[in-house]
Amino acid sequence: MHLTKRVLVTGGAGFLGSHLCERLLQEGCDVICADNFYTGSKRNIVHLLKNPYFELLRHDITFPLYLEVDEIYNLACPASPIHYQNDPVQTTKVNVHGSINMLGLAKRIKAKILQASTSEVYGDPAVHPQTEAYWGNVNCIGPRSCYDEGKRCAETLFFDYYRQHKLKIKVARIFNTYGPHMHPNDGRVVSNFIMQALRDEPITIYGDGSQTRSFCYVDDLIEGLIRLMNSPDDFTGPVNLGNPVEFTILELARKVIALTGSESKIVFKPLPEDDPKQRKPDITLAIDMLGWQPEVILEEGLKKTIGYFRNILEGV
Ligand code: NAD
Ligand code: UDP
Repeated sequence: MHLTKRVLVTGGAGFLGSHLCERLLQEGCDVICADNFYTGSKRNIVHLLKNPYFELLRHDITFPLYLEVDEIYNLACPASPIHYQNDPVQTTKVNVHGSINMLGLAKRIKAKILQASTSEVYGDPAVHPQTEAYWGNVNCIGPRSCYDEGKRCAETLFFDYYRQHKLKIKVARIFNTYGPHMHPNDGRVVSNFIMQALRDEPITIYGDGSQTRSFCYVDDLIEGLIRLMNSPDDFTGPVNLGNPVEFTILELARKVIALTGSESKIVFKPLPEDDPKQRKPDITLAIDMLGWQPEVILEEGLKKTIGYFRNILEGV
C-alpha cells in the first residue's frame, strides 16, 4: 500500500497537462509525466524537474507503457486545429491506439483513468447550448475529423472498457480553455490574438467573426478535472467542463486589443472548413455532480495570459 498517490499524466508537458502536474504535486501526489513533446514543451515543466516527486518520461503513448500508478489522466493529443491537422493519421492513432494502450494499462494495474475528451465530439452543434445528452453533428471525412472522430472513438473505448472490464473511468468533455503555457505558435484563437496584439500585427479573424466560443481559464478547468477524478466511482461522465459565458470571435479580438493597448488592426481571413458556428457548454451536470463552476471571468484570465506571453516576448 502506497501512502502517496501515484498519478500518471499523459501529455503532461502540454498546456493543460503541465498545470495538472503542478496541481497534483501541490496535493502531495507522486507524479509521472509521459510526453513525446509533439506539441508540449520542456519550458512548461522545467520548474517541476527539481521536485523528487516528479518524474518525466519521453514516451509516445501509441506504444505500450508499463508502470504502476493509482490514477491516469489521459491528456496526450495535439489540441490545436493546426497541429492536429498537420499529421491527421497520428492524431487518430494517439486517440485510438493511445487510448487502448492507456486503458490496457489501467486494466492491468486496476487504476482509475480519466479521458480528456472535447466539445468537438458535438461537431458543429445543432443544439445550443450543448448538453451531454446531445449526440453531435460531426463530419467523418473532413479536415477536423481526425480529432473529432478520434476523440469520439476514444470515448467509445472508455465506455466499452467500463462495461466489458469494469474499469473505473471518467470522461471530461473540455470546452475551449486558455491560459499561460499555451504555445505561442499554437494556432488557437486566444494565443494567436494575444501574440498578434503584442507585436502590433494584424489580428486575423477567420470568417466574419460572428462564430461563438466560450472560454474557460486553465485554473478553473484543472479544478474541474481533479473534482471529476475524485468523484464517486459510479459517476463516469461524460461531463462538460467549460465556461458557459459565450463570446463572438470579434468580441474576443476587441477585448484583446483593449487589454494589450495594441495598435493592431483587425483583418478578415477565410473561415476554415467545418469551423463550428457556435459553442457553449451546459454545465448543469458539473454543478450538480461536482459542485463545480468556473470562477475566472474572461478579462481577468486574459490579463494573466497576456502577462505570460509578454514575458516570453521579452525573453523572461
Ligand atoms: P497541448 O497540445 O498543449 O498538449 C498535448 C500534449 O500531448 C503535448 O505535450 C504533446 O506533446 C503530448 N502528446 C501528443 N501526442 C502524444 C503522444 N503520442 N504520446 C505522448 N504525448 C503526446 O494541448 P492541451 O490544450 O494541453 O490539451 C490537452 C488535452 O486536452 C488534449 O487531449 C486535448 O484534446 C484536450 N482538450 C483541450 C482543450 C483546450 O481548450 N485546451 C479543449 C478540449 C480538449
Ligand atoms: N480563429 C480566428 N483567428 C485565429 C485563430 C482562430 O478567427 O487566428 C477562430 C477559428 O476559426 C474558430 C475560433 O477562432 O472559429 C476558435 O478557434 P480555435 O482554433 O481556438 O479552436 P476551435 O474551437 O475551433 O477548436
